Amino acid sequence: MKVARFHAPGDIRLEEVPEPVARPGEVKIRVRNCSTCGTDVKIYRFGHHHIRPPRVMGHEIAGEIVEVGEGVTGWSPGDRVQVIAAIPCGECEECRRGHLTVCPDQESMGYHYDGGFAQHMVVPAKVLAVDGLNRIPDGVGFAEASLAEPLACVLNGQELARVGEGDDVVVVGSGPIGCLHVRLARSRGAARVFLADLNAERLALAADLVRPDAAICSGETDLVDEVLKLTGGRGADVVITAAASGAAQQQALQMAARQGRISFFGGLPKDDPIIACDSNLVHYRELTIVGANGSSPAHNARALRLIAEGAVPVTDLITHRLGLDEVMDAIDVVARGAAIKVTIEP
Ligand SMILES: [Zn+2]
Ligand SMILES: [Zn+2]
Repeated sequence: MKVARFHAPGDIRLEEVPEPVARPGEVKIRVRNCSTCGTDVKIYRFGHHHIRPPRVMGHEIAGEIVEVGEGVTGWSPGDRVQVIAAIPCGECEECRRGHLTVCPDQESMGYHYDGGFAQHMVVPAKVLAVDGLNRIPDGVGFAEASLAEPLACVLNGQELARVGEGDDVVVVGSGPIGCLHVRLARSRGAARVFLADLNAERLALAADLVRPDAAICSGETDLVDEVLKLTGGRGADVVITAAASGAAQQQALQMAARQGRISFFGGLPKDDPIIACDSNLVHYRELTIVGANGSSPAHNARALRLIAEGAVPVTDLITHRLGLDEVMDAIDVVARGAAIKVTIEP
């Protein structure tokens, strides 16, 4: 079968390898869609300390079961499934307390295990053990189901930031994650959602699809001023930074309303993670700053349901469907920010 394997930074190869076999406790799937995101670009450029090459990449996975390993119950060939990306151990202190997204022993598809840029893939027993395989509801395509994983991460972020009824929400960063944040915030009852990006072209592309109440090009106008203007000087109830930008995080503090919540959704480069924070803003305005680290298996199941119910439409966010042979083009399009969501159909 064909796979796209990471060998070293800058070196992803399309290779022919033997098909994997489902061992006891595992299932094997025919991958139908594996979507790409900024993480794939990061891995391509810099590698990752958890990846020991060669490794099949791809972590936003949907496919069809073709083989069920010994001892696996409840699944049969032909079942359509979505696979989690982050695999909590299920046994440590954090997992036992229900904090599955911050399991210190977390492993990931495409990092510790071969991922979905392949025609076939084995779902590890560990995924099944934590309920990480979800049945795709009828009427939901494989491409749409593959977006349950990024939506699950967005859902985790908005739960932590308590996005809800009547909130004014600012989303900084208009990539696929930013678009999902806009749509999810609306489905959770946000009053107004503003979308901002430095890149005017990318912002226009996203705004055209997700129709925020205002699209603010932070390369052309002062984002903080603009948000204060739009909110009558009050600021936003929730500010979500879906961009690897320390400057955006600092601005988030300045444009949050009293008792506002700030989600540092996107991480910063690991060699430049320090920002300046006016601690008195946090103190006097009773601000809450939260992080977000991936998603739990339950978030994936709920995200898939949100997609199935039409609460968070995703079909129109998939702007590119490419074959496995075109995986390098896919990574290039994502890196240039010229797409919303790029999915690979192996
Ligand atoms: Zn991703
Ligand atoms: Zn754990």
